Amino acid sequence: MELILLGPPGAGKGTQSKLLETRYGVAQISTGDMLRAEVKAGTPIGLEAKHIMDAGKLVSDDILIRMIGERIKQPDCAKGFILDGFPRTVPQAEALDKLLHEQAVDLDAVIELKVDEAILVERISGRFTCAKCGEGYHDKFKQPRTPGVCDVCGSTEFTRRPDDKAETVHARLEAYNAQTAPILPYYKARGRLFTVDGMADMDVVEAEIEAILRGLGVEAA
Ligand code: ADP
Ligand code: ADP
Ligand code: ZN
Repeated sequence: MELILLGPPGAGKGTQSKLLETRYGVAQISTGDMLRAEVKAGTPIGLEAKHIMDAGKLVSDDILIRMIGERIKQPDCAKGFILDGFPRTVPQAEALDKLLHEQAVDLDAVIELKVDEAILVERISGRFTCAKCGEGYHDKFKQPRTPGVCDVCGSTEFTRRPDDKAETVHARLEAYNAQTAPILPYYKARGRLFTVDGMADMDVVEAEIEAILRGLGVEAA
């Protein structure tokens, strides 16, 4: 299965792609997570990306296209992958087409998660993550079952992203509208685009995505 989850920051791409990864046995590829790992490791890419990410802008197509080109050749992608956060510009979408063509694989679907801006701001400002295993949480919508303890790994350390503050969220939404939303007609023209109401509860969103995949003949692992 080759799937793209598309949507503005806070739409639920990370949440849903992690659920799908488990269910379908394919790799979840989050370019945001990959870039944050580069920043943390202090690599040349990380050093270049950090100030751009902190400002809520997009890192260069060159860097992202190179990163994805290498990533999808890894063995864990043999059964397929879910792209979370890539492509984010039309040149990235075109480059992805080329990469997939070279590997003789076809995109099954591009699923757009649609969420109103006011809700996105609330989602992003309440988001936090387990520092150890990366499980995602929310102050209001998804607290750990035991307060302060990760459901998945038991860690008591959590992190909040520096770009999740209110000032930066606005810039990120602008980048989405100006640079990422133009990809939607690109995939619509190819008959690959499906839109899901991302404002529904997490399990409802998950069921809708699975129904779309079932309709395309893609079954869970
Ligand atoms: P994205 O990867 O698109 O930026 P996330 O999956 O990180 O979005 O979700 C943003 C925040 O909203 C997280 O804190 C997550 O727990 C929460 N969230 C995700 N999906 C839903 C949903 N359907 N309803 C309520 N909160 C949600
Ligand atoms: P979100 O939860 O807002 O969707 P991500 O974790 O996907 O955020 O991305 C965080 C930041 O990393 C983006 O604001 C951007 O600076 C950078 N980034 C991630 N993916 C890409 C991409 N495909 N192209 C350019 N920049 C990217
Ligand atoms: Zn954890």
